[in-house]
Amino acid sequence: MTTRDSRRAFTRTQQKEIWEQQGGKCAKCFKKLSLITVQYHHLRGWAENGKTLVKNGAALCADCHSILSHKERLKKVERKKTVPKPAPIISLNELNVIQLKSLAKKHHMAPKTIRIIRDIYGEHKLPPTKRQYLNILTGIVTTKEIDEVRKAVKLIKR
Ligand SMILES: [Zn+2]
Repeated sequence: MTTRDSRRAFTRTQQKEIWEQQGGKCAKCFKKLSLITVQYHHLRGWAENGKTLVKNGAALCADCHSILSHKERLKKVERKKTVPKPAPIISLNELNVIQLKSLAKKHHMAPKTIRIIRDIYGEHKLPPTKRQYLNILTGIVTTKEIDEVRKAVKLIKR
């Protein structure tokens, strides 16, 4: 959930206050700031729900600001890298129905359409097909989960 401040830019009054708190010097390298190149920076990033308040603000020289912004961009890229990617359908396809069923159970999912056959004894429900499991699990199950299911089956076999 995001609770971003509706206002991103520091007001003139806030800027003046931050500037004065720092004695007109860069918060990072302490060089004298220039009114033309000064950058007002959110200590906790605005996109990370940091508020546009004086206590969350810092005045930086252009050099320090560009270094900081670059570092924050790199951090964001790193974070994205660690998010598990949904497994491609090809690796899901390699699992059997029992393995797919256990993954569906883990995600509290079940194929919606129930297949029914009728014979002389009446109506019978058929278990979902592999295709049905693939349809509901594609884009949800991660590669890691598939590996776990594979390992679990190996353990049972031993
Ligand atoms: Zn600086």
